[in-house]
Amino acid sequence: MASISLHNLNKVYGDRFHAIHDLSFDIADGEFMVLVGPSGCGKSTALRMIAGLESITGGELRIGERIVNDVDPKDRDIAMVFQSYALYPHKTVRENIAFPLLMAKVDKAETERRVAEAARILQLEPHLDRKPGHLSGGQRQRVAMGRAIVRKPAAFLMDEPLSNLDAKLRVQMRAEIAALQRELKVTTVYVTHDQIEAMTMGDRVAVLKDGYLQQVDTPKNLYDRPANVFVGAFIGSPSMNLYEATLDGDSLTLGNQTLALSENLWKTRPSLRGSRNHPVIVGIRPEDMEDASLSGLTTTLDIPVTLVESLGAEVLVHLAVDAPFVDAGDPDAIVAEGSTNRAVGRFSPKSQVKTGDRARVAIDTEQLHFFDPKTRESLW
Ligand code: ATP
Repeated sequence: MASISLHNLNKVYGDRFHAIHDLSFDIADGEFMVLVGPSGCGKSTALRMIAGLESITGGELRIGERIVNDVDPKDRDIAMVFQSYALYPHKTVRENIAFPLLMAKVDKAETERRVAEAARILQLEPHLDRKPGHLSGGQRQRVAMGRAIVRKPAAFLMDEPLSNLDAKLRVQMRAEIAALQRELKVTTVYVTHDQIEAMTMGDRVAVLKDGYLQQVDTPKNLYDRPANVFVGAFIGSPSMNLYEATLDGDSLTLGNQTLALSENLWKTRPSLRGSRNHPVIVGIRPEDMEDASLSGLTTTLDIPVTLVESLGAEVLVHLAVDAPFVDAGDPDAIVAEGSTNRAVGRFSPKSQVKTGDRARVAIDTEQLHFFDPKTRESLW
């Protein structure tokens, strides 16, 4: 087992395209680290540099104590699990799992023992003599995992391993992989574009955008204390609602309405004080907006309701907030035309609000997020 350390890693493709800029973070021995970000942010490039499948233009990569910048992939003691599984169609499950051991010239008895152990852990015992073509997507995924496990590598590197599975199976397999990693305690780097996968699986999550690291932190800290507007919007679904606003003496002006802010907010967030009487970007999570008639909170805004979506346990209420909407810069975010001033509130199913109403919406001002409009960094 091993820690992995990235120090100012850079990747320039050809002599022009700078895909990774000064990427630095440490992954502890046994840690599950997720790299997440929108399409093209460089997460696969970063993983492939750790694997040795992509050369490193600058910086230093360590696996354990060893600098591995120029070490061959096969000598890095890592096992990679790909999106496509890369199974051999003509080999049985047993032969597929045993293959890396055959390559490493492990003796027959030890190979049989390790394959049997992997098959037991992954519940593949009934399928050992079948070919991949006769397995379900989830079972194929487990065979790919089996092939990584038998090597007993220092680290697992996984590139979107669940993206070929349907939504229900993804949820099941993400729990299985996370549980397996916790059982084996093998250092793991896992790439996904799905922030829910990142949040549910990772001990920590590194958020990337345009080849730059935005924040590396625990899922809870990413959610509660996003470092900037991009992370605030990227983590959480539905997304954080973001608007241009102004911090006045003791209140927040949002469009033509005003929200009183509690004294506590100023006490607990020192860097906010410097923004008094200045423009800010305010972020409101959907769960911090509620039908005022069902809430104990007294700070409210009157907002027209444009759509009500009942999900059973909650109701997503789309609201036309009269303030300039802030684009968080996620290239994968789909914003419907004309929806630029739209907020989504997560109301109780007891709410009676209807499309076309003007709703009184309670805002939990203690939970508001504030960002500097110039730097887009969090003001905490
Ligand atoms: P996705 O989720 O879409 O796979 P990603 O975050 O994994 O995206 P990368 O595949 O790492 O992104 O690519 C990062 C950037 O580098 C992209 O802009 C991509 O077009 C570019 N890139 C990747 N491989 C090469 C290459 N071989 N030559 C030139 N540019 C490349």
